[in-house]
Amino acid sequence: MCGIAGYMGSGNAISIITSILLELQHRGQEAAGIAVATRDGSIHRVVGKGLVVEALSYENLYLLYNLDGIVGGIGHVRYSTSGGYLDSQAQPIVVGDNSLKIAVAFNGTIANYASLAKAFGFGNVNGDAKLLSMLLYRLAKELGNDVVEALKILPMYVVGGYSIAVLTSEPRVVVAKDPHGFRPLSISFANNELYIASETAALEIASPYPWREVLPGEIISFDGRSLEQTKSPISRFVSPCVFEYVYFSRPDSVFNGVNIYVSRVRMGEELAKEVPTNGDVVIPVPDSGRAAAIGFSKVSGIPIEEGIVVNKYVGRGFIAPPTMRDFIFRFKYGFVKDVVNGKRIVLVDDSIVRGTTMRNIVRRLREIGAREVHVRVASPPFRYPCFMGIDVASRDELIAWRLMDLDDIARAIEADSVGYNSIQGLRKAVGIPLLCYACFTGLYPFRGLDVDALEKSFVR
Ligand code: SF4
Repeated sequence: MCGIAGYMGSGNAISIITSILLELQHRGQEAAGIAVATRDGSIHRVVGKGLVVEALSYENLYLLYNLDGIVGGIGHVRYSTSGGYLDSQAQPIVVGDNSLKIAVAFNGTIANYASLAKAFGFGNVNGDAKLLSMLLYRLAKELGNDVVEALKILPMYVVGGYSIAVLTSEPRVVVAKDPHGFRPLSISFANNELYIASETAALEIASPYPWREVLPGEIISFDGRSLEQTKSPISRFVSPCVFEYVYFSRPDSVFNGVNIYVSRVRMGEELAKEVPTNGDVVIPVPDSGRAAAIGFSKVSGIPIEEGIVVNKYVGRGFIAPPTMRDFIFRFKYGFVKDVVNGKRIVLVDDSIVRGTTMRNIVRRLREIGAREVHVRVASPPFRYPCFMGIDVASRDELIAWRLMDLDDIARAIEADSVGYNSIQGLRKAVGIPLLCYACFTGLYPFRGLDVDALEKSFVR
């Protein structure tokens, strides 16, 4: 996942980028950083661990606030998919020499980064962000210090997905989306000001101007005077990540023209049609199961109640490092006994990945008096790893890979029944024809991908 932000113009770049990052906090909570360019052609960066308020506190940003002649910058919130959880991989990453320096912030995963590092003679590169920065810089150097030209040919080398913001010492800001269009990216431009954010909701809040989404394969460059828009000549099968609709993105964002909240409500409606069940009350697993639960309640006629209360200050469990997930469950959920006691519960969530959180929730609902618990899931069974931006390296981690039978899954999570949306239901809910469903189907949008080899070689 991860979130990227950027700004170039006459406003206060540091404040604007920080506010965009705050709106993108749900996309990464392990680290955050900002890099700015000054008129004299230098790039300065500040990165730190934790949430934006921790990593980019006033004390940490002090260095940047004291700089003269800032013309723009980029920022990043990190959710690690490779390179470790709490280390030097915080972005933006700065590489370069006196003739050209670049800072890179990206969202996605470069699945073949280890083999690219070998092929380009970079040696042991710790993580895909570092590799992507080094590769982009190498390509730009070979193409006359031109980052736009480098981004045009980057898809030739990469297996994976990326939305990227690059700040150069020229200075200019360049953004691009891979030709598959896996991850969201949007800009807002007017009056010689360019705002950049992974999600449209952040621009609705931070920018005074209308936004638009960056298209798959598109490259946009702004040097403070002119905005250039071009495209990579390399075409690929367009396959935006359906999981952005299911879980990742904010409900108030738009991805490929579709509002996330609306698509989630429709997922719940499809779910109620496909796998109906009897119950006294629909309870969402907050927050990401809420919209689907509303849809399920609408179609089934079963009233919806908030039986689970989420502590938002604990963070998102799915994107937390594995070692933190049990700890997060203990402190994340509270339960409303008066809503649950004596009832048949229809528990609605967006997805089940490993199954441990769902089992703990079901167990707790029973402890406080639920008579029955029927679990309904807005997405299909999650069976295959993702190499385009989710931290699931191995099929063995996935409950629906280990247990193909729904009754076995229900038993494992201690529920009376479990039901999932189908791919058709999900496609109908999102309402656009081309999407990536590889974590549900195993059909990756890359030609000749050796999933077994990739799974073994990918270093998290
Ligand atoms: S495999 Fe799943 S999570 Fe990964 S890009 Fe495709 S739909 Fe999204």
